[in-house]
Amino acid sequence: MDHHTATGRTGAPPRPVPFFTHARSFEERWPAIRDRLTEVADDGKFSHGSQVGRFEQALAAWTGARFAVGVNSGTDALVLALRAMGLRPGDEVVVPAFSFMATASSVALAGGTPVFADIDPVGYGLDPAAADAAVTARTRTLMPVHLFCQMADMGGLTRVAERHGLTVLEDSAEAIGMRWGGVHAGLLGAGGVLSFFPTKTLGALGDAGAFLTDDPQLAETVAALRHHGRHGRTLGHFPGINRPTDLLGVNSKMDDLQAAVLLGKLPALAEDIRRRAALAAAYTERLRDVPGVLRLPTLVAHEIPTEPVFYVYLIEVERRDALVAHLAEHGVGTETYYPVPLHLQPCFAHLGYRRGQFPHAERACERTVALPLYPDLGTDDVDRVCDLIRRFATGRAAR
Ligand SMILES: *Cc1c(COP(=O)(O)O)cnc(C)c1O
Repeated sequence: MDHHTATGRTGAPPRPVPFFTHARSFEERWPAIRDRLTEVADDGKFSHGSQVGRFEQALAAWTGARFAVGVNSGTDALVLALRAMGLRPGDEVVVPAFSFMATASSVALAGGTPVFADIDPVGYGLDPAAADAAVTARTRTLMPVHLFCQMADMGGLTRVAERHGLTVLEDSAEAIGMRWGGVHAGLLGAGGVLSFFPTKTLGALGDAGAFLTDDPQLAETVAALRHHGRHGRTLGHFPGINRPTDLLGVNSKMDDLQAAVLLGKLPALAEDIRRRAALAAAYTERLRDVPGVLRLPTLVAHEIPTEPVFYVYLIEVERRDALVAHLAEHGVGTETYYPVPLHLQPCFAHLGYRRGQFPHAERACERTVALPLYPDLGTDDVDRVCDLIRRFATGRAAR
């Protein structure tokens, strides 16, 4: 696809910039993916096949985890990890008020109670002081979330967990490639999850997820829970379902076709991450002095060197909803992550939280918008999106 035809000088409407597409990069990687899919079709094993185990090994090697357990989504990885960690009814898990629904719903679905705390307004991660204040005698676990381009303050949060004797489960669904002092996201506490939802940094062609851990017992239990409680020593191996078990499991196996797709895409992941960083830098350069843009992605300095990954390019703006409508009118897709803070979601009304309790989370919900960011994007697309934002801000928006 030619990236230099979007000027509109010919009078044709400029090419739309979707919020996400992988049309070009998928075509490039199709031969590698096709070979894998053909293998699956040839041996006829669409479930319990060999691709999942191979992907688990490749993923463990890529992240440095001792174990990677493939499951059918990041959400299920969270639920099964919490269950494997022994969460009991009445147990509390401290989660940030600003995140994807699964961060909190997984706690409730695993039988515990989510307890919300406010975020750091710059990096959008769970704030250690707020998390500390939310701990009660019933708290078992802290669940930091690594949103958009950087990890939550794992130094501060680990100290809070140690002080209160809590386990740490990282919602690292967005964080493949992010590292803290060289350690991959998900491996700083008991374990962490990854999501391979199609728009994520490493996306499948459907739903898939994984649990990362260095703890053999946790890996084994999550592996058993994903397949009706069947124990088996080898990850990626799905023991038959007719043996007795003490675990009430579910069917949350990773699909072999998705594992094949992910195996085909994994070799290009590092290059994709570099491309995302270059595009993010291009956005930042063009948006730096635009009026009405209240905050650009800001990497927070920590006591230890960290490696960001631009999964999402998220900005804070004045009149967010009007800007979203303006961009949509001109064919530019955006996404609002997340319009409603978790403590104000109707499904958690019974927990009794009120508006005003977590001002940083609430402000982020009102002001933030994610711009298109994916390896297929051209810098001319970035130019176009930034021009539209500038015109909107300076009141020169074409009506
Ligand atoms: C995507 C995501 C999830 C859930 O992953 P799925 O694979 O879609 O179930 C959980 N938490 C966060 C922060 C996410 O971004």
